[in-house]
Amino acid sequence: MSEKLICKNLGINEKGHLTLAGVDTVSMAEKYGTPLYLLDENLIRERCRLYISSMKKHFGENSAPLYASKALSFAYIYKIMLEEGMGIDVVSSGELYTAMKAGFPASKAYFHGNNKTDTDIWFAMDNGISFFVVDNEEELSVIDTAAKERGIKQKILLRITPGIDPHTFKAVVTGNVDSKFGAAVETSQAFDITKLALTKENLILEGFHCHIGSQIFEKEPFCDAADIMLKFLSDVKIQLGFETKVLNLGGGIGVRYTPEQPEIDYDAYLGEISTHIRHLCDKHNIKLPQVLMEPGRSIVADSGLTLYTAGSVKHITGYKSYVSVDGGMTDNPRYALYQSPYTVIVANKADMPETLKCTIAGRCCESGDLIQEDVAIQDVKRGNIIAVLTTGAYNYSMASNYNRLPKPPIVMLRDGVDKTAVERETYNDVMKNDIL
Ligand SMILES: *Cc1c(COP(=O)(O)O)cnc(C)c1O
Repeated sequence: MSEKLICKNLGINEKGHLTLAGVDTVSMAEKYGTPLYLLDENLIRERCRLYISSMKKHFGENSAPLYASKALSFAYIYKIMLEEGMGIDVVSSGELYTAMKAGFPASKAYFHGNNKTDTDIWFAMDNGISFFVVDNEEELSVIDTAAKERGIKQKILLRITPGIDPHTFKAVVTGNVDSKFGAAVETSQAFDITKLALTKENLILEGFHCHIGSQIFEKEPFCDAADIMLKFLSDVKIQLGFETKVLNLGGGIGVRYTPEQPEIDYDAYLGEISTHIRHLCDKHNIKLPQVLMEPGRSIVADSGLTLYTAGSVKHITGYKSYVSVDGGMTDNPRYALYQSPYTVIVANKADMPETLKCTIAGRCCESGDLIQEDVAIQDVKRGNIIAVLTTGAYNYSMASNYNRLPKPPIVMLRDGVDKTAVERETYNDVMKNDIL
């Protein structure tokens, strides 16, 4: 059993119940109902502090982590980020709006995305966004025009595709040449867009951004991307006389979802990347720019788990067993999308042996609505509480109302005290925009 306690904030109490941050998860399910997202707020804050201190230590005082808020976006998380001194990145006006409503200033936010709409650009600019991370030449012109109309000079970074395959699942790879994101170094589009950006009167080019993918455990993909980026920085310095002030290395650092996956020592990881980058700066004779990183998953994923109530338990003789839960792809679409691995525990029987091999199915009318296939769990019965671990990232933020299922609430655990940060949707919430 204990090998399934894949994060240090998990435990089993004297009742044999799974605990998160010392709190009995079964009692939380009783208090708030299921499905329920539970988040360990202390761990989120600890991760923010770790990223900030490690980056300062390894990359210098002006370096900073930006929380990639698409991983988990709701008002209270932006309050946490503000209090912890994190920057953020956003990919839509909706994320920026939520952040601002929570008191997070746009002047500490970076706006991303391969297709910022005109209204995104205007909204972000009118609210004083710090940087746009510009994806392509057309967007460069649109942002320049918008800045001109407002009589301002807008700071930008350019999104560069270094052409790296980070050895992860295809749908989460973004740094290769034929990606929908950014301008590729290999095709010289990166160089061309840099040249163009420097001619734009209302844009201030400060540097470059790359993001090569997600769930990266090895340091090599980051170092390979750095090789290409630093060579590129050197080329634009020599050929265009442009000195890069900001280098944003993106996010993508891996998180442990199952016992087989490694647990990353984030400080050591950043240390190794920084050693490599400093070496490259020396080699190319360039000054170490301000380094930014954009961790999303590695800030929030392992702080969270989802609690469900088990429904029907079905044994198909000679084939497999299904345990259905009262949520599914509506609150966690990641298995349906990417076959993402998860660890599953029967929360009220956490100290018992795992005697049942089964597939955890959601309640939607889709045979692909599965949470995990062929997992070994405790002998589960209808009404038991099932915990799916490591659901802090890309679960709530990807949730939908398919089959008119209301979205679950988010409950934060801080210093042993539970507090609702997002209320459970009601049926009225689900139909609030419907007109008869
Ligand atoms: C998704 C994304 C991130 C965050 O990636 P994680 O794997 O969650 O760390 C950072 N930057 C950009 C541009 C992204 O698209």
